[in-house]
Amino acid sequence: MSSTSVSVVVPCGGREREPRPTLDAIARYLETTGFTFEILAPQDETFGGALRRGVSDARGGVVVIVDPALPYPVSAIGDAVAMVESGATDIVFASARADFRGSALLRALLVPIVPDPRVHLAAFSSSAAKIVVAESRLVSRGVELEIAFLANKYGFRIERLVVGDGARSRSFGAIGGLAPAIAIRLANRRNAYRAARRCPVCFSHEVWSCAQIPGNVVRACRRCKCRYLNQFTDGESGQPVRRVLRAHTDSAPPSYESHSPSAREKTSLRRFNGLRRQLPLRARVLEVGVRDGSFGAIAEREYEYVGIDPASAAARHARARGLDVYCASLSSFVNTGPAFDGITLFHVFENMADPHDALARIKELLKPGGVLFLSTFDTEGLIYLFSEQKRMAQNFRTHLVLYSRSALIELLEHSGFEIDDIGPDFEYRDHKFLRHWLASHHPLLAPLVNAMLRLLPDPLIVSTGSIRIVAKRRAGMSANARAIRSVEPTHAR
Ligand SMILES: [Zn+2]
Repeated sequence: MSSTSVSVVVPCGGREREPRPTLDAIARYLETTGFTFEILAPQDETFGGALRRGVSDARGGVVVIVDPALPYPVSAIGDAVAMVESGATDIVFASARADFRGSALLRALLVPIVPDPRVHLAAFSSSAAKIVVAESRLVSRGVELEIAFLANKYGFRIERLVVGDGARSRSFGAIGGLAPAIAIRLANRRNAYRAARRCPVCFSHEVWSCAQIPGNVVRACRRCKCRYLNQFTDGESGQPVRRVLRAHTDSAPPSYESHSPSAREKTSLRRFNGLRRQLPLRARVLEVGVRDGSFGAIAEREYEYVGIDPASAAARHARARGLDVYCASLSSFVNTGPAFDGITLFHVFENMADPHDALARIKELLKPGGVLFLSTFDTEGLIYLFSEQKRMAQNFRTHLVLYSRSALIELLEHSGFEIDDIGPDFEYRDHKFLRHWLASHHPLLAPLVNAMLRLLPDPLIVSTGSIRIVAKRRAGMSANARAIRSVEPTHAR
């Protein structure tokens, strides 16, 4: 096994000479760590030029940029390397204090995570360094702000490292940082930087990182307002669509779906009644993601029901209820019967990595005029907007893409569907779940609402901030997403 290779870059801009004592101290320290290393001290007329020259010459797996004056303990370099090497993050910014956030003005103008102007220490994975530093173009110390902006643009994760001590000189103040911040914004508007990987839903380049959650980054599309995970891990499609089937610790907060069987059955009945208004008796219906099989058990009485679920546990459980359920994903499912009259996806679409492929497949499985029933989160809904920041990690525990109402309409229409009906989705929740949720989210309101709950039926129908869409398959050809995509890879592949 090869050891960690580290490139330390000590950029010397302007009249600064090669800082011999610093280079010697770094070399002495790195020799004790067992890393293979190289130390570069590139010289250029400007700081930005020296930085870019150093990073382009660096060959290590981790690239660390160090202040020539070395105003912090040299072991901070090792800490920064360890953070990148462990895979916890792509980029490390050192700061003097643990609670450092930076100027509110700069954060509003650029990105939520800005570097500490008093500590010049940053570490990058080699791929992050090659993209982010190579794309930068400022020559002043403001290049540090530009790097933070580009890290967000290209979806790299940033973590902070507290080194305790910083330099006496600040590279940019709250006001001094304004000029570079405006220059960065203008360059971005002129498309001077390489474009970010495109949105998986609408193919727009106008995407940015909106949150960092454990192990991943959530990206947001400015055009279609959808949110999606930066990295889809392999085998994600094999996960059960229902969280209750996944083993998790008791300390985890209750998910929206951890409610009682009677609430689930009432929700399934409500969904079935929606289906009945659209489909004739004995129609052939496919449910994608069978959950606990409660919808299938109701649908089977009047329809020719087929279910698929990529999670073998869920499929087995539903089969045990006597349902015709296969362990398959939408792409691997082979329909041996005639085309379907209806296909249902209740909170399953969010778990699919490629919405265009999924809808093309659904269209293949449906008869012309067949009906698609879809319920999903709505990122334009009020409930979602109010709870987004708080629930970000929870929302993305199993979901890959969260859609906005407008993005879904556009997506369906481009994929050969015609929207028949669209509206808020309601589900049943039992009082026990609601009381638990209130106690953890709004403890002040809990006594009042608990008293009111006693007067209301159990389970109670509530809005979950999701929408339900009924769409009919058009007979004609759909817009060719593959042709658009073949120009350049999108996020999903
Ligand atoms: Zn988009």
